[in-house]
Amino acid sequence: MKREILKEAFLKKKQFRRLKETDAAKADAKAKGDVPKGLYDKCDACNASFPQKEAFKNKLVCPNCQNHFRIRAVDRIAMSADPQTFVEKGYGYITLNPLFQDGYEQKIRDLKKTTGMDEAYVYGDCEIRQEPCIIGILDSHFMMGSMGSVVGEKVTKSVEYALYKKRPLVIFSASGGARMQEGIYSLMQMAKTSAAIRKMHQQGLLFISVLTHPTTGGVSASFAMLGDIILAEPGALIGFAGPRVIEQTIRQSLPEGFQRAEFLLEKGMIDAIVHRHDMRETLQRLLRMHRQGGA
Ligand SMILES: [Zn+2]
Repeated sequence: MKREILKEAFLKKKQFRRLKETDAAKADAKAKGDVPKGLYDKCDACNASFPQKEAFKNKLVCPNCQNHFRIRAVDRIAMSADPQTFVEKGYGYITLNPLFQDGYEQKIRDLKKTTGMDEAYVYGDCEIRQEPCIIGILDSHFMMGSMGSVVGEKVTKSVEYALYKKRPLVIFSASGGARMQEGIYSLMQMAKTSAAIRKMHQQGLLFISVLTHPTTGGVSASFAMLGDIILAEPGALIGFAGPRVIEQTIRQSLPEGFQRAEFLLEKGMIDAIVHRHDMRETLQRLLRMHRQGGA
C-alpha cells in the first residue's frame, strides 16, 4: 500500500520547485536582463542556459557539458525506481536540538515544509527494473544532507529493514558530513551506521553505495565508503576534509582534480563512475547478477 505521505511529498516538491524557479528566474533576469521568467536554467560549470524542461528531460544533467546537477530525493526515486513501486518506510522522526543551538528547530521546521521530508534521508522498498531492493537517498537540499541523530538512525533502520527483508540495499549519498548543530551526537552516527553495514556483510547481503556530488565528511568516512560495490556520478566531489583545509594542514598544493570521482577511480577508492543516464541499467545488472549468484 502506498503511503499518503509520499503523495504529499510529491505535491510539496511541485510547490518547492515553483518557488525555486521564480528565484532562479529573478537572478537570471538580473544578470542578463532578457531571460523570460521561470523558463530557463543555468549550468554552474559551463554557464550555458537552457529551458528548464529540457534539463528535467535530460535527468538534470547539463545538455551542454554533462555536468550532473544536484537533485532532490523525489527526483532520484523517480529516476531510479520503477513507477509506483516505491513505498516509503520510517517516516515521522522528530529532530531534537540536544545542544540547544539557536534557530536549529526553526530551520528544521521550515525545511520540513518546503521539502515534504521529515529529515535529510528517505528510504523504502522499490524495484529497479523489476529487481526488488531497499533504496535510501540522502537529499542535499535538507541541511546539506548532513548526518544528525535522525539521519543516522534512519540509515541504520534502512539497513535493518534490508536485513529483515533479506534484500539488497542501494544508498545514494550526497552530504556535507556530520551535522555541526548536533556535535558529538552526529559523530556517534558514524559508528552506528558502520556497525549496521557490518551486519549486512556478515549475512552476505549486497550493499551498493552510490556517491553523488558532494559526499564528504562523516558520511564519506562511514557507511558511504563501506559498499560492496561503490559507484559514483561523474565529477562528484568525494572526500573527508575539503581541499583548502588539507592544503593548509600539509602546506602543499594538491594535484588537479583532487577528490573528484575520476581521481578516486584512478586510485582504486571506487569501483566505477556511472553516468546518470546509465545508472538504472547498471544497478539492475548488479542486482540481477547478485540475485542469480546467490540463488
Ligand atoms: Zn554545463
